[in-house]
Amino acid sequence: MIFICGIIAYIGDKNASDIVINGLKKLEYRGYDSWGIAVKSNPSLAIEKQVGKISDFHALDSLPRGCVAMGHTRWATNGSVTKENAHPHTCCKGEVAVVHNGIIENFQELKQQLAHHNFISETDTEIIAHIIEDNLKAGMSFETAVKNAITRLEGRFAIVALSNSSDKVVAARKGSPLVIGVGKDEYYVASDIPAFLEYTNDVVFMEDGDVAVISPGQGIAYTDFHGGKVSRSPTKISWSIEQASLNGYEHYMLKEIMEQRDTLAQAIVQDDAKVKKIAEMINSAHGTFFIGCGTAGKVGTVGSYVFSKVAKKHVNAVVGSEFPSYHDFLTKDTLLVCISQSGETADTLEAIEVAKKKGCKVVSIVNVMGSTMMRMSDEYLLCNSGPEKAVCSTKATTAQMAILTLLAYACAGRLDEGRRLLASVASKVNVMLDDKYTEEIAFLATKIAAHESMYIIGRGLNYPIALEGAIKMQEVPYIHAEGFAGGELKHGPIALIQEGTPCIALVANDDVKKEILINALEVRSRGGFIIGIAPQDNDIFDFWIPVPDLSIASPIVNIIPIQLLSYYTAVEKECDPDKPRNLAKSVTVK
Ligand code: GLU
Repeated sequence: MIFICGIIAYIGDKNASDIVINGLKKLEYRGYDSWGIAVKSNPSLAIEKQVGKISDFHALDSLPRGCVAMGHTRWATNGSVTKENAHPHTCCKGEVAVVHNGIIENFQELKQQLAHHNFISETDTEIIAHIIEDNLKAGMSFETAVKNAITRLEGRFAIVALSNSSDKVVAARKGSPLVIGVGKDEYYVASDIPAFLEYTNDVVFMEDGDVAVISPGQGIAYTDFHGGKVSRSPTKISWSIEQASLNGYEHYMLKEIMEQRDTLAQAIVQDDAKVKKIAEMINSAHGTFFIGCGTAGKVGTVGSYVFSKVAKKHVNAVVGSEFPSYHDFLTKDTLLVCISQSGETADTLEAIEVAKKKGCKVVSIVNVMGSTMMRMSDEYLLCNSGPEKAVCSTKATTAQMAILTLLAYACAGRLDEGRRLLASVASKVNVMLDDKYTEEIAFLATKIAAHESMYIIGRGLNYPIALEGAIKMQEVPYIHAEGFAGGELKHGPIALIQEGTPCIALVANDDVKKEILINALEVRSRGGFIIGIAPQDNDIFDFWIPVPDLSIASPIVNIIPIQLLSYYTAVEKECDPDKPRNLAKSVTVK
């Protein structure tokens, strides 16, 4: 399942279309093949849709002024990328409009029942507008018509609906994120907080099964799908608009890499009692799984090495999509530690659902406060990284690693020592990330950009960093990068090395230093161009990227230069670092 488009709606006194267009631009990282907006105006709804990126769009003179509007950026699931398939979708008369994130699984069946309607698009979304239309015709109020429609939908979704015949806007959530921003006599509904962060910090996180009925000037009534009242109140969130905007940088990716000068220090601002409680849960569990997808999966593997070395504990690092193969091992004494920037990753959420049914305890490490994962967990720690908007994860990754390291020290009863180590990591990264450092890596990127493939090798703690580094070089500059355990080279991959093949060797002053340097030499002897990421230079290196000497915390610092290399190589190749092809932030693909 894929739920990665963006929804934003506004109800208030301001010119709604300006706010919605602005919000859509902020949400574009969630999906960007087409977009659309509906503005409530008399006598009919004004709708504009376009294929392409909304960031390329500057003014919408064609739209009327109005105080209620909603918009959508689409990441197509049902139907190709066309103007007709872009949201909002309307009923036959154009009086009801719907935006939708997710997939309606019983769409075929419903569409057959709605054969009397004139369908304009190939989407599953359009059926919602037609069901509401039938319900209105049957005499229901708009609010009831929407509620009745959503009870007929199977699958996961977030929707917002409005109608010209009602002053109400109705939003519903089932399995796909939807948050409400509460301003002074104005309301925002969005897939994610940055869409309205410049207007309000008061946020209601809708729960699955919630409907919010927003009446201009009168407030919001929350119910379940069947009309039963539920009570929800706003939380003040600490993110600032500066954190969510480019703030002078050309791309979010570079901004977020550079923010690691501060975010590592913020990541370890955790309540000691909570950290100790989670450590106790890990220590007393019979079987702990670290679960994450993509980069968060690699962070889990880093965690398993750190736990082995520091806490002398075995934990199983498993990627979310592979976790079903481990379901048989779950008992009520099993603990899941789930890692996700967004807290919305479907494979990981599914692991939690299964684990909860089996009585397991769940801890999550997430960056987004109020996220589904946070709310499904028995305990959670927040990364405190501020919004991460580039599709590829950077600052949240190192924050997750720092938190797992802190937990490993807490499990060993050495929390203070862990804190001291991580505080020194934070201050050394702050010093490391200066202009000279980034310029050197930008220079290296001009060389790497000419290659189609490259390799990254590491051992021990830095083996998962080789894997994560490869993800970085794949997803942003589209280099065919592969990460290997240094010792595995001679079992196959070394056959790929040719004259000039770039190979990054991740070196730390640890017990595998000698071995990884030998592996680097093996590659060099076959013509490879060795880029050493290491605290000290070495004759084996053709290019040396210095990093602070941090032994057990070396994974945290060793990934940062690869993040920079990925960014600058993408810029060199004229790829958009914030919006890599085929990918989207908060991708939750099953
Ligand atoms: N299933 C809907 C469509 O294909 C919504 C996709 C999305 O979440 O962007 O239009």
